[in-house]
Amino acid sequence: MALVVQKFGGSSVADPAKLKNAAQRAVDEFKAGNNVVVVVSAMGDKTDEFIDLASQLHADPAPREMDMLMAVGEQMSIALMAIAIHSLGYDAISLTGAQAGVYTDNVSSKAKIKQIDTQRLHKELEKGQIVIVAGFQGVDAEDNITTLGRGGSDTTAIALSAALNADRCDIFTDVDGIYTTDPRLVANAQRIEKIDYDEMLELASLGARVMQSRSVEIAKRFSVPFRVRPSGNNSEGTLVTNTEELEQVDVRGVALEENEAKITIRDVPDTPGAAAKIFNAIAKAHVNVDVIVQNVSAEGITDLSFTVLQNDLSAAQKALNPVIENLGCGKLDIDENVAKISIVGVGMKNHTGVAEAMFRALADNKVNIGMISTSEIRISIVIEAEQGKTALQAVHEAFGLHNAR
Ligand code: ASP
Ligand code: MG
Repeated sequence: MALVVQKFGGSSVADPAKLKNAAQRAVDEFKAGNNVVVVVSAMGDKTDEFIDLASQLHADPAPREMDMLMAVGEQMSIALMAIAIHSLGYDAISLTGAQAGVYTDNVSSKAKIKQIDTQRLHKELEKGQIVIVAGFQGVDAEDNITTLGRGGSDTTAIALSAALNADRCDIFTDVDGIYTTDPRLVANAQRIEKIDYDEMLELASLGARVMQSRSVEIAKRFSVPFRVRPSGNNSEGTLVTNTEELEQVDVRGVALEENEAKITIRDVPDTPGAAAKIFNAIAKAHVNVDVIVQNVSAEGITDLSFTVLQNDLSAAQKALNPVIENLGCGKLDIDENVAKISIVGVGMKNHTGVAEAMFRALADNKVNIGMISTSEIRISIVIEAEQGKTALQAVHEAFGLHNAR
């Protein structure tokens, strides 16, 4: 008997009709002769509503109580899902994270799963139950309810698949799968049939935020192939798996990150510790820095540029002012509106000319390159924001992604 894990995101259980649809999908798997474990998220925007409620009572609510509060959303979903399955005439039992044996550390609101005790799950499956597990939550060594960070139900589903050695894991969502780029920006974007874990991770952190990144990291570590697929139709979606299972291409997808800003610090003394001081101040302000470029120095001074999210710009500036003065740097140049375009593909590890093809596509479209940053499987380029869409279309086309299938 095969074991199938299905995860339904908040949008796939947002109302009774959607819950019914999800229940039917679980029952269909069960009828096909499988053991079925279903992981659900909170309905629609419930988690946000809870956070908003708490914020009306306290500017900085206690983390433990926030976990207690946020976990309610998933608990509501599991009960309703079990009830929906009962209405179809099948057995189902709902389990909270704690009841399902999901043990975590004690870091409120971003707890990590330490261990999953699958005894209860196996016991219920053996009884012929469809087992519904609350995503996003677990329990620490002192029985406190913990949560796994926003989007954490994905992590629950993948971790359960690993612990149960599931034969299949389906992540149901409101998109048709992973695309070669954002279909809202490029009309001929194609659904990707199969993608590598690392490609998925890069694309997720680059704006294709379909799943919690941590869940993909866990899937990679434990080799859990999974499908991202729509709950609303029968599309197979996208299979996320090991490189060996894939057709090799140089570029699997292109992502555009808008809403970035570029900060350039002029005349930074070229001495050990200057960058450390600068980025320490930024980190203390909880600002994430993205692409960093330092120029070759001339006469002991250099320029340092980096990008941050536009939302973080003023916090970054505030944090920088004292350090700049302290180090005796020159002025800050701010470009409030830049975008970052990135190509991603494990194939570029062993191929030359990929960067050149990207630069050529940009040049042909008169897009100026502001900054470049690379990893083994990614090339990112910072450009002027207003050219973002043009650049995205040009690069997508240059790598033939419009006929990727
Ligand atoms: N309900 C939680 C959230 O909105 C967890 C999840 O949806 O995966 O972040
Ligand atoms: Mg959610």
